[in-house]
Amino acid sequence: MPSNPELKLMTNLLKFPGVKVINYSFISEIGVVLCLENIEKEAACIHCGAKTSKLHQNNQLTIRDLPLGEQAVYLKINRRQMTCQKCGKKFTEELSYVQKKRTYTTRFRKKIVIEVLNSDIKNVAERNGVSEQEIETMLKDLSEEILNEKPKNLKRLGIDEIALVKGQKKYCAVLVDLDKRVIVGLLEDRTESAIVEYLESWGEEVLEQIIEVSIDMWKPYKSVANKLMPKAEVVADRFHVMKQVNEELDQGRREAKKEVKALTKKKDEKIKNTILSVLTKSKYVLLKNQSDLNIEEKVKLEEIYKVAPILGMKHQLKEEFREIFIKQKNWVDGLLKLGDWIAKALEYFPESCGTIRRWIGEIIAYFDNRTTQGAVEGINNKLKLIKRRAYGFRNFNNFKLRSFLVWHFAG
Ligand SMILES: [Zn+2]
Repeated sequence: MPSNPELKLMTNLLKFPGVKVINYSFISEIGVVLCLENIEKEAACIHCGAKTSKLHQNNQLTIRDLPLGEQAVYLKINRRQMTCQKCGKKFTEELSYVQKKRTYTTRFRKKIVIEVLNSDIKNVAERNGVSEQEIETMLKDLSEEILNEKPKNLKRLGIDEIALVKGQKKYCAVLVDLDKRVIVGLLEDRTESAIVEYLESWGEEVLEQIIEVSIDMWKPYKSVANKLMPKAEVVADRFHVMKQVNEELDQGRREAKKEVKALTKKKDEKIKNTILSVLTKSKYVLLKNQSDLNIEEKVKLEEIYKVAPILGMKHQLKEEFREIFIKQKNWVDGLLKLGDWIAKALEYFPESCGTIRRWIGEIIAYFDNRTTQGAVEGINNKLKLIKRRAYGFRNFNNFKLRSFLVWHFAG
């Protein structure tokens, strides 16, 4: 029989509240077996909450726990069935470290799931001496717990989307806690009704805490935010605004090329070739931030300015637009600068100017808190990686499950 100090040490090492180790043995080829006993004689009724000490029957079982070095560890526990002295109903007591009907501790499950995320089910099953089916059950249980969890302390919400299948115009909505940089929702459908339904499932308590919602300039998102989070400020994501200006600049580049190609007279041949050689492969130089260009790229940009002055002017305006977002620190200055910019740019960027006017309130909201979806980009890249690696995760729910598991265990 082990001595009391030994048992006390084992109990402390085990770190489970409410139980003590009363015996242990080592069985070769199997591992360490610890016998546990509940410290409390009473258990709380799962129906009415009253504490009761009336035992209905004992229920001995053996469960897996985290290994000790190379040794597997088994726990012999007693999950008691009690009869409530208040409501009279029978119940099986709740234990903090093991779920009902499961033969392993929650922390053992966590270890296995983390291994699966970095490997595959078959390997992990062999390595740990558990069946593949058991691992699938672990994944299913855990995902249900995680997917039903509500976000805690969510202040800034980002709503964005990613293309699930490359080249297809099918998007899923990604909801992100912008402060913690974690996914708080992944919806197959980015329709307004789907997002409303999902957000409503969080309940008012969560929604009322949100002070800012960052969106791309898509009307349904704005209407969702106004409907469900009336106190939150809606901010147009700066990178999405910039993207639109860049797209229009690129449109200008293509038009310039087309115009030159339309020159057919013999005498224009030489100038046509010169301009075309400058405009070829000019997209990157035009769209990249000017301050990030290397010397060769700067030379290329100067050539563009020379042979295609209107395109040069558009590029100049794009850079001025970018500056506004870097330099302005409050919404009044931001608004004034944007007004100046629109006056100059209207002729060259009619579409972007239209969008900016329609979304001016959400765009200038940026200048006060400088909230962006910068975090979302990293998250989207990670999601794409998961999608690629998601062997055996063929449908959306499996993809979602794996994504949530990755974020759940990343922190
Ligand atoms: Zn009861």
